[in-house]
Amino acid sequence: MEILMEFLDLKLGNAVIRFQREFELSQDGIVGPKTWNALAPYINGYIVYTIEKGDTLYKLANRYSTTTNAIITANPNINSNNLLIGSKIIIPFSSVVFTDISYTSTILYKNVESLKTIYPFLEIGTIGRTVIGNEIPFIRFGNGSKKIFYNASIHANEWITTPLLMKFLEILCKAYVNNVTIFGYEPANLFNDVSLYIVPMVNIDGVDLVTGNLSTTSNFYTNAEKISSNFPDIPFTSGWKANIVGVDLNLQFPADWDRAKEIKYAQGFDKPAPRDFVGYGPLTAPEAIALYNFTIENNFSLVISYHTQGEVIYWQYQDYTPEESFNIAQNFSRVSGYTLEDTPYESSFAGYKDWFIYKYRKPGFTIEAGSGTNPLPISQFDTIYRDNLGILVLGMVQ
Ligand SMILES: [Zn+2]
Repeated sequence: MEILMEFLDLKLGNAVIRFQREFELSQDGIVGPKTWNALAPYINGYIVYTIEKGDTLYKLANRYSTTTNAIITANPNINSNNLLIGSKIIIPFSSVVFTDISYTSTILYKNVESLKTIYPFLEIGTIGRTVIGNEIPFIRFGNGSKKIFYNASIHANEWITTPLLMKFLEILCKAYVNNVTIFGYEPANLFNDVSLYIVPMVNIDGVDLVTGNLSTTSNFYTNAEKISSNFPDIPFTSGWKANIVGVDLNLQFPADWDRAKEIKYAQGFDKPAPRDFVGYGPLTAPEAIALYNFTIENNFSLVISYHTQGEVIYWQYQDYTPEESFNIAQNFSRVSGYTLEDTPYESSFAGYKDWFIYKYRKPGFTIEAGSGTNPLPISQFDTIYRDNLGILVLGMVQ
């Protein structure tokens, strides 16, 4: 797997040659169709297999280190007692979502498509497009009437929150298929009671800038570099939080936006910036508009917006916080070890959760996961996942 990791980090060349050697392909270091075909299953997390004489699900599951249950889930129309020779089936591997590499939009799109292939009961779709025109995907788990919404990576250099939600979704699906509890809860009950909507990467363009997935010769890159040069104290690209044209998406929502503007302009963020520029009006950035419209369409009963860092939970907005929020926040704090915080005045307005609470008077949370300097290193992933699993499950049952 190490070779694959290098490949996905786009350190091509040697990694590809080593891969070709291992798989007995011609060692030219070029990702031609043969090399791609050999690599693809590892990136996809599954293979498309053509049934041969003598195959049984049990034999195939053993050969590919998976389970018959996983194969049947991915192929709901299969007759396991009568596999048709020559027909094609999906054979899933044990893990899809990468949690040890920089999580770019390329990987996100791959992983979303793979999860949908392996777990066909998921619904996938798009909430809109970014400035550059990238689709912003959503994924739904469950058929329940209660709608819950988690989103991540509103801020570019907080992208570790994307694999957090993606890995949680994968583990949730796996628990559901294998009928094992997740954080003490029956996944079948969660599936029937709740519709969990996840938007794992709101600020796709910004994440690609920070993770090196945006070409340094593209106009969007050079424009971002120019914006950044007005703010020399903020490192480029690691200090970048905004969307690709310098609007901070978490200062775009109609909840005292004018007050946010006053505060941020006074701090010198009065034009496009790597962070803290509210925009020239509320809801001008396409990513913020998409999030806003998606929320309005769905009438969620609870939302969580994932950020980094600080290991704290923000749960209030002015005088609008509903009564039940405090209890839920306390439960989140108990299972994560994170601290409940009052929002500091200078970041009190125009955020997504602020607007959600203001508009619906329902529980909305901003969770600052992990600790250190953004972007947090991916080596912190396991700690962040462990600390937040309880929150992610409890959020569904409030
Ligand atoms: Zn943030």
